[in-house]
Amino acid sequence: MLTIGLTGGVGSGKSTVTQLFASLGVPVIDADELARQLVEKGQAAYYQIIDKFGQQILAEDGEINRRKLRELIFTSANNRIALESILHPLIRREIQQHIQQIDAPYCIVAIPLLIETGQANIVERILVVNAPKEAQINRTVNRDAVTPAEVEAIVAAQVGNDLRLSIADDVLQNDGELADIFPKVKALHAKYLSLAGVEVPIEPGESVKDVAESAITEQKPKVAISAPPPEITLPESKQSMQSSSVQLLADKNHNIYELPLNEKMRTFIRLEFLFSEVEHFLAGSTIWDLRSAVNALIATLSVVCRPEIKTDLMKELDRINANLAKFDSKSGVNSGVLSDLRDDLTSKSRSLRNMEGQLGQGLKQNELVSALRQRESIPGGALAMDMPSYAHWLNQSYAQCVADIQTWLASFTLVKEAVDLILSLIRGSVVAHDVVAKAGFYQLTLDPDVANQIVRVILPKNADCFPEISGGRHRFTVRFLRPNGFERPVQVEDDVTFKLICCAL
Ligand code: ATP
Repeated sequence: MLTIGLTGGVGSGKSTVTQLFASLGVPVIDADELARQLVEKGQAAYYQIIDKFGQQILAEDGEINRRKLRELIFTSANNRIALESILHPLIRREIQQHIQQIDAPYCIVAIPLLIETGQANIVERILVVNAPKEAQINRTVNRDAVTPAEVEAIVAAQVGNDLRLSIADDVLQNDGELADIFPKVKALHAKYLSLAGVEVPIEPGESVKDVAESAITEQKPKVAISAPPPEITLPESKQSMQSSSVQLLADKNHNIYELPLNEKMRTFIRLEFLFSEVEHFLAGSTIWDLRSAVNALIATLSVVCRPEIKTDLMKELDRINANLAKFDSKSGVNSGVLSDLRDDLTSKSRSLRNMEGQLGQGLKQNELVSALRQRESIPGGALAMDMPSYAHWLNQSYAQCVADIQTWLASFTLVKEAVDLILSLIRGSVVAHDVVAKAGFYQLTLDPDVANQIVRVILPKNADCFPEISGGRHRFTVRFLRPNGFERPVQVEDDVTFKLICCAL
């Protein structure tokens, strides 16, 4: 597998470019993220840092106090060197281990200080994201609460752009608009696929992205494809955001396990499942498919007609809409696409508000559906001996039965569209990270200021264990269990590497 080291100066656009590669399905290893994980409580660097800097480096919750650590290394070169000598070998080892686990034509290894830390030899090619110094300063000042002088000091502490460019195999000049970056990433993507020996024939009228995505799919990458964050996604079509989520769900090589962090998400995911179930059986061809489609429709109706669903959907559409409003003023965001997306959220919320009565009310009054609902909880309760009217209905032509079910389903169209939109935006809001569950156990405390909605754990289909995820808005745990015949599953004793996505929007 080809390994591409991605680097660049502060504020040059490394993260932006990395996320765009990830949006094309390219596996990404993020050295900064690995460093963050390594200093977490109980992780490899944790005890070494306490040994070196003493207990004073700990916060009240026992985690390393990053602010204190930053102060210590900024005020003393010896401290900085000591910390680097702990972290760099561990990061290098982690990167190499992650590379071993990836099965894809190529991967991106994002190492901001690739040159400064002498890690250029870990990768086969170097991609430098380059921006003029003024742009680096302006973008960082706009993004972080820092002064131009502080950014200048960071620029001065890093190697110069000239040196970086002199060792680059490829350069992505990020000196234009935000929207200019994606075409450059797509061109590099095609180049790297081709260098990796993947044929990328481009038909007239077919975009590089289409071709590249299909090429990646054929190569069956072992890591999850993650969607870019909203500010990157917005310039692309809304359709592409939805398909990213669908890709995640439909990945042939991975299982995705989700933990909704609140009741609304739990219900929306349940509804999404039930709608898929109806659709699946509607595409079938036997009377058993028809019966299963009707059963799934009845179950859907039971959820949809709960009194709180309409309000929950409206509130969620409005909440996301308000969150997206902050992208209005961001440079580089395609305001047309953003405004279409926000219009869609507004119009769905308004249509729900304008719907008279409870959701699913009409269907509840349908005589046949209502009789079936009453027998829903009785095993085998819809037999001809109990429900001749149902047997008679099933005796019509197959096409007529399907048409009836589609008509009934049509009354849920707005609910389905709202659920799909909400879940696709939330699931597409962040990228996946590789994390390790030490001895099969992983725990994460969530930032209460972040609107976390769903935790997703992604494992290869052939993994011999499965995650049990539990928790809530503030903290969750993942325990990996191995099936044990028909006995209780047992927690695995080995470390388990998995992809984690904390979806927040
Ligand atoms: P650092 O390493 O300092 O964390 P970085 O190199 O990863 O930063 P990004 O975070 O990708 O840089 O970009 C810095 C900021 O500049 C972000 O807010 C990003 O949205 C914005 N940005 C990146 N490229 C452009 C561009 N071409 N035009 C406008 N804004 C940009």
